[in-house]
Amino acid sequence: MPIAKKRVLIVDDEPATRLLLGQIFSGMGHDVAVAEDGFTALEAIRQAEPDLILSDLNMPGMSGFELLSVVRRRLPSIYVIASSGAYTGDSVPEGISADAFYEKATTLKALFEIVKGALGTEARKTRRIGSEVPVWLTMEEGHSADKEYFVISCTECLRTFSHVHEKVFGVVHHADCVHCKSPTPYAVVRLLAKVNEQAYQMELDTAGRSLRA
Ligand SMILES: [Zn+2]
Repeated sequence: MPIAKKRVLIVDDEPATRLLLGQIFSGMGHDVAVAEDGFTALEAIRQAEPDLILSDLNMPGMSGFELLSVVRRRLPSIYVIASSGAYTGDSVPEGISADAFYEKATTLKALFEIVKGALGTEARKTRRIGSEVPVWLTMEEGHSADKEYFVISCTECLRTFSHVHEKVFGVVHHADCVHCKSPTPYAVVRLLAKVNEQAYQMELDTAGRSLRA
């Protein structure tokens, strides 16, 4: 059954995953753009606003946590799917600004169902945007320094500034944007190590083949 052509942005730091997901969505007839991290994704969004973003959470540079919280505040009509191998379950992990969550290396059928629902004809729900949606910053598991330097994207002016964070987890803090002086709420989360990326890519490859067959 043909579905309307949509613009899809795929954000993943693994080149093979970007390529394979890109092939799958192109094969479904959509316009596909790819980005390797949050910064590149924001640039792509500025050029052409997508209908759907499928974003990895664990990426160097600007992580998916941060990207999705910026998107949710500024562009709430974009449907956002967070994907990760570092969490389990089919619901959106707490604190992540996304409409749906897809656990990497589970069945791709689950992803297709999510996408079908997202790009279907059903009207998008209007979202209430809390002014206190924090920007999520990630720290690798096992990180032991007392202080950490972060680059934060201002949710008001979308420019970036660096910020020194004292090691406290799980609370919302505020950092003043050096450009527009807006207080940007942020929180720091610990990220688990990447898992199952290879198994995920193998499954994508198989799915891509069967779509083309
Ligand atoms: Zn600003």
